[in-house]
Amino acid sequence: MTTRFHLHNYGSINIDHVYRVPHLVRPGETLASREYRPVLGGKGANQSLAMARAGGDVTHWGRLGESDRWALAPLREAGVNDEQLELIDGPSGHTVIQVDDDGENAIVLFGGANQGFDADRLDTLFATTSPGDWLLLQNECNDTAAVIERALEADLQVAFNPAPMVDAIRQLPLTRLALLFLNRGEAAALAECDDSTPTETLIRALTERYPGPDIVLTLGREGAHFLPGRTASELPRFEPARSVSAVDTTGAGDTFIGYFLAALQHGRAITECLTRASAAAALGVQRPGAADSIPLREEVERLLA
Ligand code: ADP
Repeated sequence: MTTRFHLHNYGSINIDHVYRVPHLVRPGETLASREYRPVLGGKGANQSLAMARAGGDVTHWGRLGESDRWALAPLREAGVNDEQLELIDGPSGHTVIQVDDDGENAIVLFGGANQGFDADRLDTLFATTSPGDWLLLQNECNDTAAVIERALEADLQVAFNPAPMVDAIRQLPLTRLALLFLNRGEAAALAECDDSTPTETLIRALTERYPGPDIVLTLGREGAHFLPGRTASELPRFEPARSVSAVDTTGAGDTFIGYFLAALQHGRAITECLTRASAAAALGVQRPGAADSIPLREEVERLLA
């Protein structure tokens, strides 16, 4: 399929170390785990995986500890371009996740390699871009503000998923971006509304405050809104979520974003981008895991046929 733009993803790669335990470890306790699994994760890696599984063309800008090389395999297998992935001596970004018999979890996060981009590395990465390319980013790597500034200076179209959301994000030049991907919590924080604000009010507050970018607002099992920004080349759209029985919604937003961007890259209309993203996310929430649960393009095509 022909593509309308190239997409670079300045994104985290995490190794999630998942331990099954009878109960969450207590202060001072040493607890034996029954099962251990290292899994590829991180919002950046998940979004690149989703985009590539959707048939999109994405180059992942990332950093990973040399000892976690295995994590490159699923990215490569999906078709993510990993030429700009740097392997380093230090630790990868990682989490230590305990999951107990009731399904409760406790998580320790260490940013590791994801937090170690420096100016030299950014020079190298930006040298691979051309005006008109797209840059996607989340907020799990260091220097989000500097990367956005550089991308705007280089005339890139910036798509931003401000997760995890922090107050400083409201100071970024968000009105100059091309596309914002927000879930309800992120939207409420950006618009300075509380979480229980009715959707209509939230949308009004958001679009008044951030008039520039197109906004994709995802609302979990309710569905997703497309809110046109400055270009006003589209009408507002709403895509209800598919009614499915969800077993694990981790990564639903990442799957949605990857599939949406791949469809946009293939020149599809906004309504189709929403339909495909929503179908992919609905398939994903019916399976456990995040990266593992991102469906393949054929599965999405079958669902839409
Ligand atoms: P995030 O994972 O970032 O919090 P959301 O929870 O808003 O994002 O989910 C993103 C999209 O995934 C939704 O707009 C919807 O299309 C789909 N989705 C999420 N939860 C469900 C669900 N329980 N059933 C069907 N689709 C879902």
